[in-house]
Amino acid sequence: MPESALADIENSQPQQDKINLLGLSVSRLGDFFEQLGEKPFRATQVVKWIHQMGERDFDQMTNLSKALREKLNETAEVRLPEVVSCQDSSDGTRKWLIRVEGGSCIEMVYIPEKDRGTLCVSSQIGCALDCSFCATGKQGFNRDLSAAEIIGQLWIAADSFDQFDTKAPRRVTNVVMMGMGEPLMNFDNVVDAMSLMLEDNAYGLSKRRVTLSTAGVVPALDKLADVTDVSLAISLHAPNDKLRNELVPINRKYSLQQFIDSAKNYIDKMPDNRRKATVEYTLMDQVNDRSVHARELAVLLKDLPCKINLIPFNPFPGTEYRRVTNTALDRFRDILQGEGYTVTVRTTRGDDIAAACGQLAGEVNDRTKRQQRYKSKLASAEETPVKILG
Ligand code: SF4
Repeated sequence: MPESALADIENSQPQQDKINLLGLSVSRLGDFFEQLGEKPFRATQVVKWIHQMGERDFDQMTNLSKALREKLNETAEVRLPEVVSCQDSSDGTRKWLIRVEGGSCIEMVYIPEKDRGTLCVSSQIGCALDCSFCATGKQGFNRDLSAAEIIGQLWIAADSFDQFDTKAPRRVTNVVMMGMGEPLMNFDNVVDAMSLMLEDNAYGLSKRRVTLSTAGVVPALDKLADVTDVSLAISLHAPNDKLRNELVPINRKYSLQQFIDSAKNYIDKMPDNRRKATVEYTLMDQVNDRSVHARELAVLLKDLPCKINLIPFNPFPGTEYRRVTNTALDRFRDILQGEGYTVTVRTTRGDDIAAACGQLAGEVNDRTKRQQRYKSKLASAEETPVKILG
């Protein structure tokens, strides 16, 4: 293995004595075995053991020689984040609180539906982008998750559903990178983890069933198509820059039109021409839910192959926003459908365990002071005024 490749692997992991093999893609693992003086095909064998059979003990990896198993025990390990708690909602949604190195906790949610089971995975501890309507943003930011901590979430879910080494239908059929954090701010680790999600010798998910959701980190989105072709979701939440600057502050850096153009480029580069982006739009009462907003959105998206997912806002403690009314939601959907768009409305799931969209908070050892400011604001607010924008 070239020294720089090993340095890459080591730099992508928190400092530990042993190398954690959990988050290494097949090619990185191939480099690792080469450095041990082994054939690269060992990578495929070990990836299968870890991600298809759920095996973490090298001594149980029986198609590896005894000498290699000993070498692995000396130099490497398969280290998972720690599950602190696991809650089931009355509607079948499951939420895990997971402690990662450094002591912070992230959250992960599984949402079962009739024909699929979707795992919503976190990519960072907290989020630096601070969208005004998002519970995660209020927790501040600690650090990026390593590739092991990202793929470790899928491992934990698969294990909890006895999905390893069985012919039974898999419970986790889809993964969305929509939990805590902005995935494109943690580009390399997210790409490595997604490569294991897609890898036939690991989880073997189809690229249509793995979705990366971004709030608009345009330079990173511009280079995403060079390294993957997973499905894309774009978090818009507003149809013009003035309103989006308030709701999604990264818009002040990369405008809506730059974001839409970049998403279109990504979709255009996909090998099959039937792919569409999903546009995520969280509807908040009297903020972004008016007819004029729906019409503006229809014009904005006219050149982007897309479907639109409307998400009624899920309130969380101290938020200034309210859920959209059913009347406004129906009106908004009807206008977009009238303009020829495919529109879905996301049903609220896991509300009783605070697992609904936008409610994930975890326990973030915040390094930005944002959490502290938010808590002081909560403590001092006797009454929370409703914010009206746009
Ligand atoms: S909506 Fe997404 S990008 Fe915005 S603060 Fe929340 S987690 Fe971060």
